[in-house]
Amino acid sequence: MKNGILYLCPTPLGNLEDVTFRVLRILREADKIAAEDTRHTRKLLSYYEIHTALVSYHEHNKITKTPVLIEWLLNGQTIALVSDAGTPAIADPGEELVQSAIVHGIDVVALPGPVAAITALTASGLPVAPFTFYGFLPQRGPQKKEILAKIMAEEKTVVFYEAPHRLRKTLADLCLLDPTRKAVMARELTKVHEEYIRGSLADICLHYEQTNPRGEFTILLAGAAECVAEPVDPVMLMEQYLAKGFSTRETAKEVARLTGKPRNEIYQKIIKKK
Ligand code: SAM
Repeated sequence: MKNGILYLCPTPLGNLEDVTFRVLRILREADKIAAEDTRHTRKLLSYYEIHTALVSYHEHNKITKTPVLIEWLLNGQTIALVSDAGTPAIADPGEELVQSAIVHGIDVVALPGPVAAITALTASGLPVAPFTFYGFLPQRGPQKKEILAKIMAEEKTVVFYEAPHRLRKTLADLCLLDPTRKAVMARELTKVHEEYIRGSLADICLHYEQTNPRGEFTILLAGAAECVAEPVDPVMLMEQYLAKGFSTRETAKEVARLTGKPRNEIYQKIIKKK
């Protein structure tokens, strides 16, 4: 019997119109759709009146489900893999299934479509080539520190994903390494509240001290070669915080955090200035 084909089908990042005719046809014609969250994918399918059978394939069942999907493919079934948003296998389940399909001689066809990293990169205003993609960073510990240092040493534009509740901490850690580095925050791409915040890491940290980070974020950093790191001027930063209405204590705390200078030293400078 002829093997089936594994199709990797990108789905919208937010705007339901961002899906290709070909993806819709494959979703309609496949024997099964393997979805990260079947309830989530059902919304897209019902919008486009697609009635293909859904099976779940996610981070927590991929070890047991991969051989099942491979068996179906070896039996001639066509499977369309989708994730909740964007392209499967890009910081989403899919990599292991693709590797296993290749080992079993099954054809893998990747359909083009939305990827948050690429969408953000093209409108960032940063050099698009070369660039390097880190997916999600490790969440904590020495591994995170190491990766942050590695990221800041990259000469290419760096793109990575971050959850909103970890955004301030990650930005502050990066800022300590080089507050002058140019960065872009691409938020809620393709959705109603889409926005790009561009500036130095120090500017962006200040912005998110005043604004609660909400929604989905893709972070981009200019390569180390793009801007020669200059030590940030604590006095200038201090003036920016005071002008934005931060108290003496808050300003001293934030400037110390962003420059690595002793808080008391900053505090004394502000008092003298006042
Ligand atoms: N497979 C997806 C892709 O192709 O981009 C990525 C999935 S990953 C689980 C989800 C992360 O992608 C989010 O936490 C966020 O960092 C980024 N992301 C997804 N949608 C986004 C959007 N609309 N705007 C900005 N970033 C987005």
